[in-house]
Amino acid sequence: MSPEQFDLTGISSVALHAAGNGHAEYSHIPPIYATSTFTFDTAQQGMERFAGKDKENIYSRWGNPTCKVAEQTIAALEAFQLKNEDGSPMKLKALLHSSGQAAMTTMFMSNLQSGDTLLSHFSLYGGTYELMHKVLLETGIRTVIVDMRDLNLVEDAIKKNKIKLIHIETPANPTIKCVDIEAVCRLAKQHNIMVTVDNTFATPYLQQPFRYGVDFVFHSTTKFLNGHGSAIGGVLLSRDIEWMKTKVWKWHVLLGGNANPFDAYLLIQGMKTLEVRMDRHCSNAEKVAAFLSNHDGVEHVNYTGLMSHPDHAVAKKQMSHFGPMMSFELKGGLEAGKKFIDKLKMCVRAVSLGTVDTLLSHPASMTHYSVPREERIRFGITDGLIRMSVGIENINDILNDLDQALK
Ligand code: PLP
Repeated sequence: MSPEQFDLTGISSVALHAAGNGHAEYSHIPPIYATSTFTFDTAQQGMERFAGKDKENIYSRWGNPTCKVAEQTIAALEAFQLKNEDGSPMKLKALLHSSGQAAMTTMFMSNLQSGDTLLSHFSLYGGTYELMHKVLLETGIRTVIVDMRDLNLVEDAIKKNKIKLIHIETPANPTIKCVDIEAVCRLAKQHNIMVTVDNTFATPYLQQPFRYGVDFVFHSTTKFLNGHGSAIGGVLLSRDIEWMKTKVWKWHVLLGGNANPFDAYLLIQGMKTLEVRMDRHCSNAEKVAAFLSNHDGVEHVNYTGLMSHPDHAVAKKQMSHFGPMMSFELKGGLEAGKKFIDKLKMCVRAVSLGTVDTLLSHPASMTHYSVPREERIRFGITDGLIRMSVGIENINDILNDLDQALK
């Protein structure tokens, strides 16, 4: 059974069955194909595989059966119940990478070249910002950054620069700012500009950017898609199957950012519970946000589910729930932030996000320690800011731990 043969009505069924129910040797679970290469029966067969007439595998950097199961599943999740302009079911092609950064690199390098300019939002994952300003810049690709929540600023940047691609991360690190994907897409299409979206924080369960006509979506699968913090990975997806099979595939294969079958296996296992995990993450996050908002030690909470968040309406429009990510500002600045993190007993002190257990980090003393204070504050990373990826533990245990650490 696959979505082509059977109309699935829930995304949880897609996560479990999109790649079929049986594998080699009638194995129920997809085997880990720990092999670098694949054999040919004859020279003729080898020739046909290289000519693309025989679709079987050749070499694992160019494709591996375990990785393909993960790719099929993510493509089905991102396209779930979406239609093309002519009403036919949307089909996507996914390419699994060794990390989110590798997927992002393939995405930018296969669509941009020296002399091009890309436009992005001021609130981005640090690695994305650095890739734009340290690596792409050296290849002659320039980045313009604006607050993309203000469409006048987007339009102004389009008028002043010859923009080839707009990159959106929504919700974004660490203040959970959201950009209106539909509005930006509408503007971009008027100017023939490509749009790419980092959907890592939301997952396809909460947000499907292809609904609005974006050209590429990518994820750090390291986060909620894997869900258990057991592997680093990334995926790049597009509706333009031909572009994916030619131009994008060339960059993917020649840069060598392919995933490995063991990490793909862990990802496949993790994705099976995406819906139940996300439901619990989200309901716990709502309760944590309400608790922190009413706590004396907390200055304010950045959570899109709260009416006080400036992007509440945008998040409500394009997401089916507000998600598991939030950040909050402690009264007492840097020292209060460090003390709070040190006092946690159950919740985990770690960077990263999207694992079944709750993770908290203090950007000013951790990820952004080396960023000059004025600069990090410009990006909303204040001294007492704590970032929280709410896990699926019993909610009372999460609240009790936060409460004792805040005292
Ligand atoms: N995009 C977002 C939103 C992220 O949070 C991260 C990593 O934290 C990345 C991309 C990069 O992913 P990876 O660490 O898997 O390379």
